[in-house]
Amino acid sequence: MVQGVGFRPFIYRVAVKNGLTGFVQNRPEGVVAEVEGPSAFVDAFGADIRLELPPLACITNIECTDLEIRHDQNFQIIPSDAKGHADVHITPDSATCPDCLQELFDPTNRRFRYPFINCTNCGPRLTIINAIPYDRANTSMACFPLCRECLVEYENPADRRFHAEPNACPVCGPQLTLLNAEGKPVETADPVKTAIDLLSSGHVLAVKGLGGFHLSVDAGSSEAVKILRTRKYREEKPLAIMVRTIDQAMQIACVSPEEETLLTSPQRPIVLLKKIQSGLISDSVAPHVPNLGIMLPYAPLHHLLLDDRFTALVMTSANQIDEPICTGNREAIDRLQGIADYYLTHNRDILVRCDDSIAFVADRKPRLMRRSRGYIPQPLHLKETYPPVLALGGQLKTTHCILKGRFAFVSPHIGDMETPQARDFFHESLALMKRITESDPQIIACDLHPAYYSTQAAQELPTERIIQVQHHHAHIVSCMVDNQIGGDVIGLAMDGTGYGTDGNAWGGEFLIANETGFQRFGHLQYLVLPGGEKAIREPRRIAASLLRTVYGASWQELAHKLNLIPDQVQVELFEKIIDGKIHSPMSSGLGRLFDGVAALIGLRLSVSFEGQAAMELEALAAGSTAPPYPFDILRNDDNPYIVDTTAMIRAILADLQAGQSKTIIAASFHQTIIDVFAVMAGEIRKATGLNRVALSGGCFQNKILLEGAINKLRHSGFDVYSHSQVPSNDGGISLGQAVIAASMIKKGM
Ligand SMILES: [Zn+2]
Ligand SMILES: [Zn+2]
Ligand SMILES: [Zn+2]
Repeated sequence: MVQGVGFRPFIYRVAVKNGLTGFVQNRPEGVVAEVEGPSAFVDAFGADIRLELPPLACITNIECTDLEIRHDQNFQIIPSDAKGHADVHITPDSATCPDCLQELFDPTNRRFRYPFINCTNCGPRLTIINAIPYDRANTSMACFPLCRECLVEYENPADRRFHAEPNACPVCGPQLTLLNAEGKPVETADPVKTAIDLLSSGHVLAVKGLGGFHLSVDAGSSEAVKILRTRKYREEKPLAIMVRTIDQAMQIACVSPEEETLLTSPQRPIVLLKKIQSGLISDSVAPHVPNLGIMLPYAPLHHLLLDDRFTALVMTSANQIDEPICTGNREAIDRLQGIADYYLTHNRDILVRCDDSIAFVADRKPRLMRRSRGYIPQPLHLKETYPPVLALGGQLKTTHCILKGRFAFVSPHIGDMETPQARDFFHESLALMKRITESDPQIIACDLHPAYYSTQAAQELPTERIIQVQHHHAHIVSCMVDNQIGGDVIGLAMDGTGYGTDGNAWGGEFLIANETGFQRFGHLQYLVLPGGEKAIREPRRIAASLLRTVYGASWQELAHKLNLIPDQVQVELFEKIIDGKIHSPMSSGLGRLFDGVAALIGLRLSVSFEGQAAMELEALAAGSTAPPYPFDILRNDDNPYIVDTTAMIRAILADLQAGQSKTIIAASFHQTIIDVFAVMAGEIRKATGLNRVALSGGCFQNKILLEGAINKLRHSGFDVYSHSQVPSNDGGISLGQAVIAASMIKKGM
């Protein structure tokens, strides 16, 4: 990672410091430096490069070669070789660095309280790019000519702002404006101070950030949070908050050393942390869940806005339900009508839509749930070179991915493809990824699901060949790529739903998989999802289905006893739907089993967002240990093994009747699933001799399940691989699809 990070001036400084001559230059293949001098000096140069690397630069490999002596008289930065630049990667947006932060609050500095301060070590990158190479002329800073002082910095190799493309100051750079709900400017000498006043008096502000607008309110005020929720039609889904410092984060949540590293990293993701009941944050920020999504400020404007009047500000993506985040000023005013009272905005355009990334720590490693701002467009390194492929991902939490040589470029998080706006974003993002990778692959990979928007889009794009990839196969290969491994593995793909080769909704899959194929060794038993999509919103339907399957005729009585279904008419209707499978697909999804169990124990009969019941079941179990319930593994002939959970459901009902605490039931349920993983992985090992297990799918965002599975499987002697670079949820699907398609092409399949 050498572009836009101050890499050439860094090489220049290190060479000069060590008394060497030579040059450094940007070339199509990357940065090339040649140094000349006594060998001890050259060795010192090599050591310094590793030690003093600029914060945003990243070196994957250094090789040294002896060259013919040129007798250079000095060390020079030679202008770029303009012939190409494709392999020089653009860096992600990066949080304000400590040097800029110090200047931001220094009254004697010419950038005192200037909300657009940046340098080569920090600031916007991807989100202001129009085209490559990454030069000011190709960014949304092109319309701000540098003043004399800024130009001197920009041209001086010894300056921290040498070729900092977004370099700016109050004289020459972008400016803030405060607008009212109608988009009319508010008279104020200091938009930030006025914005703080408005926030502290309970108003909803739309604040323009790096990759889009946030909607912000004072997180300490339940009233303000409730107003925001009502206007955004977002009843209970947790809202992300921003705090000024790590110390403040520690007042409201438990922060481990690994979590602190993640919170303070230049990527600045939202990190899920265990709440402390401090009374400082309104309960309606994240109701019924044990975690808070916390981030630290990443733009100078955030540092200015987080005044000591607030413990934290809610900072949630500014959008309507199921729509992408707003970026343009006009767009924000149109789309946030009725939600925002005021807009704190500016005249530097956001050219790339990029939501905040979301992460958590499990087994002491960072895990991404959403990979976007701060990480994009940094590519993943692949273990080998692949032919170019474009993969279009799935339907929910979707991304796409371009393979190019030894790199995989995954797009920013696009989200759920349910609205026309989301679909526009899909195409916008596709065009962006093609532009920044300077490629247009003619092989397209997509999901098997005939009704996914991305599957349909694949048919409409110019292409040589479309390769459809099974959802859970893509999950497992995505985990393999994340860990740079190949060959056959035991794959545990656990999620809500994915289209299976038999037309059913899969999601509790035990696979034997490699980069070109898979075998379904076993799965969780199929369950009727009464009403399909409706069952996802109403977990009580799944509980009804479980009861009907396990108890037959006596299920009605139990459904009454558990208050699952309000009246007899509905009970009979449900029975008809379940027995006749009317508009009701068969699902083996672990996510659905979580929903069903959550409803059985009365935790959640209906939800306001997908995965809510499962999240609350995890929350209930957190911190408790309890023995597993029984279950059976069924095998007949050459069919896949089936994990039969009848005995578990009976045991849960018995526990409920005996008045066992729900916390213990939830903990036992988690432990059962972890045992199922270990037993099934053991069966596959017995049958195949394989010993490597890859864990993927949205269920592994459940920390109890992920850490429990890793520990149990390791204890049983398995090598366990899990996600850390891309999400285990459907945000990682495109990466798996791309590598599967490319491997097939490579093998002539
Ligand atoms: Zn900086
Ligand atoms: Zn200036
Ligand atoms: Zn999935």
